Amino acid sequence: MKIVLENLTKIFPSRNKNSGEEVVAVNNFSFTIPDGKLIGLLGPSGCGKSTTLYMISGLQKPSGGKIFFGDDDVTEVSTESRGIGLVFQNYALYPHLTVKQNILFPLQNLRGKDKMTKEAMLERAQEVARLVQIDELMDRKPSELSGGQQQRVAIARALVKMPRVLLLDEPLSNLDARLRLQTREEIRRIQKETNITTVFVTHDQEEAMSISDMIVVMKLGVVQQIGQPQEVYDNPENLFVAKFLGTPPINVFSGEVRGGRLFIGGADVLPAPGVPDQQVHVGIRPEGFILDPNGALECKLSNVEVMGRDVSVVSTHEASSNPFVRSIIDADNKVDLSAGAVRFSLKPHKVFLFSKDDEKRIRIEVK
Ligand code: ATP
Repeated sequence: MKIVLENLTKIFPSRNKNSGEEVVAVNNFSFTIPDGKLIGLLGPSGCGKSTTLYMISGLQKPSGGKIFFGDDDVTEVSTESRGIGLVFQNYALYPHLTVKQNILFPLQNLRGKDKMTKEAMLERAQEVARLVQIDELMDRKPSELSGGQQQRVAIARALVKMPRVLLLDEPLSNLDARLRLQTREEIRRIQKETNITTVFVTHDQEEAMSISDMIVVMKLGVVQQIGQPQEVYDNPENLFVAKFLGTPPINVFSGEVRGGRLFIGGADVLPAPGVPDQQVHVGIRPEGFILDPNGALECKLSNVEVMGRDVSVVSTHEASSNPFVRSIIDADNKVDLSAGAVRFSLKPHKVFLFSKDDEKRIRIEVK
C-alpha cells in the first residue's frame, strides 16, 4: 500500500491568544512512500517527525494537505478505520493481561463483517507471535518479560489486524544498546516478511540509516532531503544534512574557493573546477583523509585512538569549526604522536562545499 502525503502541514496555535507564536510543526510535506518499503523519518527533537506520523495515523488532524493510502483519501478517516498498526516507545501493553490476551485484544473488538471466530483469532495470534518470535511466552504477563520481548508483543499486537500500514514511533528508545541493535534487525526482518509499508520515526541517524529503504531528514518542520540512506550520506544537499548523518560526524572547516582551487587556512587542498570565487563551509567526512607526508592539509596532532580495524586521528586546525578534527584511517597506518603535526591529502568525493549564505551544497564540476 503506497502512502501519498500531499502538502501536509500542521500548525499548532499559540497557547496564549494574546501573545506567543504558533508552531509550524510540519510545513508543506509532499512525498510518496512506495508500497512495501520502510521509511525512516529522521531529525533532531522537535523537527516534526512524530507529528507527521500522528497525521498519517489519524491521531492528529492536518491543518492543510491530504493523505492517501493507495488511491483512498484518508485525510478525514478516523484512526480506527485507517487500517494501521501503531507501535510507540513505551510498549503500552495491558499489564493485567497475558501476552496472548494482549495480542488477541484488537481482534476481539472487531465488529460486523470483520468479526472473527475464536479459533480464527487464536490462529492469527499464534501466527504473529511466531513471526515476532514470542510464541513461547504467550502465557506470561508483560511484567515477566524483558523490554525487547515487550516491544515484540507490542509489534505483534500492531500486526495482528493485518494493517495496511505499520507506524513505529521511536520503538527502540527504551531498550539498552545491544537489544536496540537486535530489535532493529528484527523489525527489518518482520517488515520484509510481511511487506507492510512502514514508517519508522527516530532521532538516531545510525538506526534510521541501517534499516530504512529511504530516509527523510527533517529540520524545524521542513523536509531537508529524501533518499536512500547511502545516497543521502554520499550526497548531502545542505550542511544540516551533512552534519546530521555520520559517526563520527563530518568535519567542517572554513574555506575559500579562489581561481578554481579550494583553500583551507591558506593551504591549496583540492581542485574546485566550476565553482565561483567565494568563502565556503568545507565538510570532510572522517574517512576522507589520507595520511600523506606531502599532503596539503597540516593539522596539530592531539591524540590517536586505536579502534580495532581503524585508527581515529584526533587533531586540531585553526580553520576547523569544531574543537577537534576527527579522521578515520586504516589501522595499518602508523601515526607518530611525538611528531606533533600530521599531514593529510583528501579524497575528493568525501569533501563537500556549502554556501556561507544559505548552507546549500555547491557542486564541484566533475570532468
Ligand atoms: P521528538 O523527537 O522530541 O519527539 P519530533 O521531531 O517528533 O520531536 P514533534 O513532536 O513532531 O517533534 O513536534 C514538532 C513541533 O511541534 C515541536 O516544536 C513541538 O513543540 C510542537 N508541538 C508538538 N505537539 C504540540 C501540541 N500538541 N501543541 C503545541 N505544539 C506542539
